[in-house]
Amino acid sequence: MAEPLASHVNLSSLPREERLARMRHSAAHVLAEAMLDLMPDAELGIGPPIDTGFYYDFRLPRPLTQEDLAWLEERMRKSIAKSHPFHMAKITRAEAEARWAKQPFKLDLLQDLDDDNITQCTHAAFTDLCRGGHVNHTGEVPAFKLMSIAGAYWRGSEKNPQLQRVYGALFETAEELAAYEQQLEEARRRDHRRIGRDLKLFDLYDEVGPGHVVWLPAGATVRRELERWIEDLEIERGYQHVITPVVAKRALYVRSGHWAHYQDAMYPVMEREGEEYCLRPMNCPHHIMIYASEPHSYRELPIRIAELGNMHRWEKSGQVSGMSRVRIMTLNDAHIFCTDAAMVEVEVEGVLRLMEEVYGTLGLKDYTYRLSLGDPEDHEKYVYNPPMWEAGEALLRRVLQRVGLDFYEAKGEAAFYGPKIDVQFKTAASKDETLVTVQVDFHLPAQFELEYVTEEGARARPILVHRGILSTMERMVALLIEEYEGAFPLWLAPTQAVIIPIADRHLPYAQEVAAALQQHRLRVEVNARSERMNAKIRDAQLRKVPYMLVLGDREVEARAVALRVRGGGDLGAVPLEALVARLVHERNTKALLP
Ligand SMILES: [Zn+2]
Ligand SMILES: [Zn+2]
Repeated sequence: MAEPLASHVNLSSLPREERLARMRHSAAHVLAEAMLDLMPDAELGIGPPIDTGFYYDFRLPRPLTQEDLAWLEERMRKSIAKSHPFHMAKITRAEAEARWAKQPFKLDLLQDLDDDNITQCTHAAFTDLCRGGHVNHTGEVPAFKLMSIAGAYWRGSEKNPQLQRVYGALFETAEELAAYEQQLEEARRRDHRRIGRDLKLFDLYDEVGPGHVVWLPAGATVRRELERWIEDLEIERGYQHVITPVVAKRALYVRSGHWAHYQDAMYPVMEREGEEYCLRPMNCPHHIMIYASEPHSYRELPIRIAELGNMHRWEKSGQVSGMSRVRIMTLNDAHIFCTDAAMVEVEVEGVLRLMEEVYGTLGLKDYTYRLSLGDPEDHEKYVYNPPMWEAGEALLRRVLQRVGLDFYEAKGEAAFYGPKIDVQFKTAASKDETLVTVQVDFHLPAQFELEYVTEEGARARPILVHRGILSTMERMVALLIEEYEGAFPLWLAPTQAVIIPIADRHLPYAQEVAAALQQHRLRVEVNARSERMNAKIRDAQLRKVPYMLVLGDREVEARAVALRVRGGGDLGAVPLEALVARLVHERNTKALLP
């Protein structure tokens, strides 16, 4: 017999997190109750609380629809209105097996439990296998909404059946729920996948492959501007740009350690003429080959080798997404070979200052620096060498302080061979992501037995600094699309101005204006379609073009343009020469706003 367990709880005395977890978990029970009403043959998975609400996994006879979600939510509200109490009880294995005889996932869960630790929870006519953690009755389930349906594998493994997961949002008050929905709405509005499609920046084709981004002319223009800019900044700072192949023999990655640590994330090996080749997962080994190809004196160091390098990662097809998770990417990469710690310190400082300059120019603000430390207790995950770790961590901390950057420290986030500085960004969906890192590496120089000749004529091992600034072009452009909501500053805008002749007789002057701007490498278009002026302006606004130049009789007469700025401002008549000067200045200074 089921043995009842006391489970009354005073919600208001609990910490907020626990209270919310109980509410969310209870709502998942109510969702399962509703689902069995909709589809009595539903097989139940699990229904835990999550950060923003709850979910429940089901195996169902058919795919769920939006109408189903609305019906389930309504059905849940009915159960909540009745304030059904939640009753916990202890049961035997035999009772549990009988109760869930037709619920294969519950039977599977049951195998994880000890005989004296099997409990169930009942409310209304619904009973679930559950270890507890509810509110007292369904009436204590507050503001919620069923949000979406997604696929999920049982126990998270592809080898298991695929289930349908219903997500719900739940907060203590209607205001908090509304704020959360608003935040989601903003993330949707800024989503680079949607904007990228609307503005024809990039595309993904099933025939080309998941995660293989195709840059359309507009997106390729944004990327080219960023690439030229960063290459120039690097060349000014003594970086030497190289171009190395995207394929190498497998043996190279065996020596670098990538094969041992990384092969699951690599494309399969290609074999021809008895040799094995790989698409490279990282650029480091190639740059190391360049360094190792000739002897170096201490006088030549630091040597800074940079490349917009193509890399390949075998992400699972279910995990690729837009341009933020892709399989083929181009990293703004560099490797700096240094003699000693003092040189590393100077170089890392230079990298941080370049980051500040670049992110400042791009107008990015939502980022922080993280000093990622090892864990002295964890000898499995990290190379055991306490003096190396202490020195490396102190060095990076000192540089961050000297440059005057805000940073926080995180234990257990280092690479296995050394500490690093991570630049942490917040995405439109409010997720924290590492954009780029600066790593101090003693490991690869040893793997490749790199050397330089010291002042005294002895041989010494250089220290390697790996660094990115713009991250991968895919991730940076995705971030910028979300940051600007598609309204790029003039220097990055794919089309910088649209010229709008009011009537056909203004077309020759429109061509003249276009030629005057193109002479200064400004990207302009003449909209010669036979539409009304307002339609042409609206079209340019939707495409987020920074400037619209309207031409009628008066403008032809005065050799001027009627200037309109993206977002609505009408600046009136501007002489052609002043317009050219204005746009060139705005482009050259990389101004953020028109
Ligand atoms: Zn429960
Ligand atoms: Zn590297």
